[in-house]
Amino acid sequence: MRLVLLGPPGAGKGTQAALLSEKLNVPHISTGDLFRANIGEGTPLGVEAKQYIDAGKLVPTDVTARMVKSRLAEADAAQGFLLDGFPRTVEQAEILKTLLEENSQQLDGVLNFKVSEDVVVERMLARGRADDNEETIRTRLAVYRDETSPLIDHYGEKIINVEAEGTVEEINARALNSLGK
Ligand code: AMP
Repeated sequence: MRLVLLGPPGAGKGTQAALLSEKLNVPHISTGDLFRANIGEGTPLGVEAKQYIDAGKLVPTDVTARMVKSRLAEADAAQGFLLDGFPRTVEQAEILKTLLEENSQQLDGVLNFKVSEDVVVERMLARGRADDNEETIRTRLAVYRDETSPLIDHYGEKIINVEAEGTVEEINARALNSLGK
């Protein structure tokens, strides 16, 4: 299964992706996690990405797309994947479409995790990640509204809505149910 997970920062996508990845037996590919691993290792990619991530802004698309392309080329992604945090713009969605078409593949669906802004801010402040201070959170929510939420219309019929308020288990059950699992 080839799925994209969509939703505002703090929607719990990462947590749900990890659970779904086990159930569906496909790798969880998170661009945020890949960036953080690169930052941790001090790679050139990490050094470049850090300034954007710390400010809550999007890392430039060419850098991000190159990283995604090489990750999708790894053997474990051949039979499917859960993409978490990519695409984040319509431009990135077009790049993903082209990448998949090169292998005669397409997305099976786009899970859209729906959650109110109040819950999102609460969750982000609770998890305490380095880029989870109030100013950065505000910037990331604005980036989501302006650049990422248009993907809901862009993907149209591929969108599968999941109500993402409640416990981790409840949301996971809803997500699986929406996929017919
Ligand atoms: P996340 O873990 O998905 O919340 O991502 C953390 C940060 O990584 C974001 O605020 C962005 O700075 C950066 N990032 C993650 N995915 C992307 C992407 N697809 N395009 C650009 N920047 C990204």
